[in-house]
Amino acid sequence: MKINLHTQVFLGIFIGIFLGLFFKNWVIVFHPIGEIFIRLLRLIMVPLVIASIISGIINLKNITALKILGFKTISFYIFTSAISVIIGLFLVNVIKPGVSIVAHDLPQPDLSSIKGSRPFSFIDLIPDNIFRALVDANMIGLILFSVLIGVVLLSLESKNKSISKFFISINDVMMLITQWIMKLAPLGVMALIAELVATNNYTVLAPIFLYGTTVILGLAIHFFLVLTVIVWIFSNESPFKFIKSLLPALATAFSTDSSVATIPVTVSCLHQVKQLKKKVIGFVVPLGATVNMDGTALYEAVAALFIAQAYDIHLTLFQQGIIVLTAILASVGAAGIPSAGLVTMVAVLSSVQLPIEGVGLILAIDRILDMFRTVTNVYGDAVGSLVISDLTDHESFDD
Ligand code: ASP
Repeated sequence: MKINLHTQVFLGIFIGIFLGLFFKNWVIVFHPIGEIFIRLLRLIMVPLVIASIISGIINLKNITALKILGFKTISFYIFTSAISVIIGLFLVNVIKPGVSIVAHDLPQPDLSSIKGSRPFSFIDLIPDNIFRALVDANMIGLILFSVLIGVVLLSLESKNKSISKFFISINDVMMLITQWIMKLAPLGVMALIAELVATNNYTVLAPIFLYGTTVILGLAIHFFLVLTVIVWIFSNESPFKFIKSLLPALATAFSTDSSVATIPVTVSCLHQVKQLKKKVIGFVVPLGATVNMDGTALYEAVAALFIAQAYDIHLTLFQQGIIVLTAILASVGAAGIPSAGLVTMVAVLSSVQLPIEGVGLILAIDRILDMFRTVTNVYGDAVGSLVISDLTDHESFDD
């Protein structure tokens, strides 16, 4: 009997949890499998993103079609991120997880790595050296550069020239390698989850349990009531079928904490959904993994308000409005790698003069919340592909 990939990933998750709970001291044996899986994903990520964006753009009819596609994509991403922040703010104002906490009484962990990081600046998004951007996997920089190359090739109408064929072929090669890496997904996910379950210290969660619950509840509402309803509106099939086809991507996001490392898996899962246009996926997913983070935006807003409550600082409606804006921007600026949201959190706190030390309150639980917000981030990108595919007619493409 042949078990399909989705069932294998599902089994991988359960076996991973079981191993992590009952064979705590043995899970180290699985460490290399998880590590190999993550490394393979990172290996493929940069060439895949560059090739898929360039070939996606070359296949468009003209620059106007690109502008329309870009406008629709960014508008959709900002719209869903704004909804997620508003859900977060609503919940944190109702549940008030921070009021019972006296911030000054809690031990203050070491914040040097966060404080030492440079404040976020939009100018940093433009790379000044393409080779450094490649080595550092600076995704926003690489996307900008790829869009630039794509636009030049499109405006030169060079679809049939060898340089365009080169990028289209690289894209095909990367997709094939991705299919091979995906065969390792069930084992990789099992190994990563086993290690995660075995090594996390859950007792640290007790004092900030209510805060964690607020974030997870908000993410669940955004996942099921907002994004899944959007799927229900736009999909030809049941939303659950859509979620099922995404299971390997969601499990990879959950176990790697990185939406960017998950790009190959997300793209590969979406290729199985018949309704979607592959050319749209190639553009919308890499862009989304880098700038569209609904889960991170929600978390930034809840965390900022939680810190304000714990320090007994009252924020006016206007200040909460500023949090909506900065949380969206901070999620755009966050890098799609583990804990990126925690670092850009500093920008949100500074925007309304909240103490940056407050980050210390939420450090202990960050790893776990990162898993849930990364799943939401990746799902948001997938839903974006569905909606944009639906809103983009065949006329926009050349063949
Ligand atoms: N880990 C998240 C992601 O990759 C970003 C974050 O919120 O830290 O999507």
